[in-house]
Amino acid sequence: MSYFRSSVDAMTGYKPGEQPKPGTPIIKLNTNENPYAPSPQAMEVLKTLDSEWLRRYPDPFARRFCQAVSEVLGVPADWIIAGNGSDELLNVLIRACAEGHDRKIVYPTPTYVLYRTLAAMQPAQVVEVPYSHDFQLPLEAIIQAQGALTFIASPNSPSGHVVSLDMLRHLAQQLTGVLVIDEAYVDFAEGSALPLLKEFENVIVLRTLSKGYGLAGLRMGFGLANPTLLSGLFKVKDSYNIDAIATLVGTAAMQDQAYKNACAAKVKASREQLTVALRQLGFTVLDSQTNFVLATPPNGDAERLYLALKEQGILVRYFNQPGLDNKLRITVGTAEQNAALLKILATLLSESRVEA
Ligand SMILES: *Cc1c(COP(=O)(O)O)cnc(C)c1O
Repeated sequence: MSYFRSSVDAMTGYKPGEQPKPGTPIIKLNTNENPYAPSPQAMEVLKTLDSEWLRRYPDPFARRFCQAVSEVLGVPADWIIAGNGSDELLNVLIRACAEGHDRKIVYPTPTYVLYRTLAAMQPAQVVEVPYSHDFQLPLEAIIQAQGALTFIASPNSPSGHVVSLDMLRHLAQQLTGVLVIDEAYVDFAEGSALPLLKEFENVIVLRTLSKGYGLAGLRMGFGLANPTLLSGLFKVKDSYNIDAIATLVGTAAMQDQAYKNACAAKVKASREQLTVALRQLGFTVLDSQTNFVLATPPNGDAERLYLALKEQGILVRYFNQPGLDNKLRITVGTAEQNAALLKILATLLSESRVEA
């Protein structure tokens, strides 16, 4: 007999992008971290931390943080749930809402791979509906499937595209289950699905401090939805899911919108430059509303380029799966990092032309 439940035996664990040891001279463009440091005001909190904050259990609802989010986004504080990264909230949603054949999990693919991993842990049926090759949402098939949970990442990874507010509204209307709009990359996008919160009881919007705020190591995310929907999630989450340090640092980061917006503006400008430069090298690059681009090299030889870049100390993301195995997902770095990447790519491509 196995030690594990059959669904755990059957699943493959999530494979995160490689994380080299801190300090190794590597340009890391593989896991969509922000190239800029977190807010100096947030870092200041660490220096002045009172030991009482660590002696005591943290606030189970991170109310100080939710209050800060409320002020920034104009959403009532009791419409906010804090999570240990938005990944925790995805997990809580699955545990709270999905079960077997009658309470399915539905999402379009390709998208954030963790949806599949988290779903596989649960005895819940998953319906994956493919995007068209130009990333049009398979709206009717998603509605047909009627998931207890429907995940839409918008902006999506790895494509970088945004699903229009009209389509999301249509989905919210037509689904009887919960529509989860994962806005992990919203800080680099134009627009957001927040207006749907007031219109629909079945919509939850997820956000994170990992991308826009440069705090992937802190593990802080949050969900926005009406209190009825949140009530079930509060029952399921770990009682002390947000630690005291994350609550304080996250609150300070949230209050420093000016810093976050300035970093996001730099990333967006670099993204446009990187897109143009890659196209000049012959790549096909989708327009992106995130801090990464999905790029198809001229000869489709993505795996070779991925390995050659790695050898030269630059990590990008390569997905060895149908539809993506001729592409690279490249996180937007600083101007210097992008220049280093482009220089090596130009050399690698001219070498392959000589060989051909
Ligand atoms: C990065 C990412 C997340 C996870 O964010 P955390 O808050 O770090 O857990 C969620 N969804 C998508 C689509 C992401 O790319």
